[in-house]
Amino acid sequence: MTHEFSDCARCPFAIAERLCRNPNGKAPDFCPTRDLSQLTKSSLKIYEKVEYAEFAKQASIQEAEGYADRDLGYAQVRPTKTRIEEIAEFAQKMKYRRLGLAFCIGLRREAKIVAEIYSGKGFDVVSVICKTGCRDKELIGLSEDQKIVPQEPEAMCNPVLQAMVLNQSQTEFNIMLGLCVGHDSLFLKEAEAPCTVLAVKDRVLGHNPLAAIYNIDSYYRSLK
Ligand code: SF4
Repeated sequence: MTHEFSDCARCPFAIAERLCRNPNGKAPDFCPTRDLSQLTKSSLKIYEKVEYAEFAKQASIQEAEGYADRDLGYAQVRPTKTRIEEIAEFAQKMKYRRLGLAFCIGLRREAKIVAEIYSGKGFDVVSVICKTGCRDKELIGLSEDQKIVPQEPEAMCNPVLQAMVLNQSQTEFNIMLGLCVGHDSLFLKEAEAPCTVLAVKDRVLGHNPLAAIYNIDSYYRSLK
């Protein structure tokens, strides 16, 4: 690449004009579509693997089915499905029966409802809370002043164990609900089944981190 790194987030062209959407389109000097054709070919080889082929196909079918009025053209399509519904539909497409639900203790009420929804759709739901195992944070090297409430016993979040519990139960598809930054990363490293995220944790913004971006020119301007 003429530029050291890919930087699609700063692409200056309108969607329809971009090289990644239009083979005759435009490309800035940090464009991976123009400069990384060998890597693109390598990625396509991955989709030939059995465990990727059907998954990728069904994910893209699910994507398209998330819109109504597709016959009216791109400018007219309307989104129709919540993520909760899309996860269920995708899992049905993949013929999964057993779902894992890895959730945060702070979202236990939400987890109960989510588990009931997926159970009601015929899935086996194996759910596991972040504090599972009940081991104190001192085991991972935290001092008292690094706890949420110093001088009190405080169970560590154990996303590695969350993943192990789901692995042992042979879940086919794992749903993450409200895991903390970093804990989610560890869960993803250890989980054997493919994972999707129903919601990420944002304690301030009601688990909708993009609310800060939608208000970036007003209340959250200090983030810029
Ligand atoms: S792939 Fe190229 S054209 Fe597409 S967004 Fe990235 S830089 Fe822009």
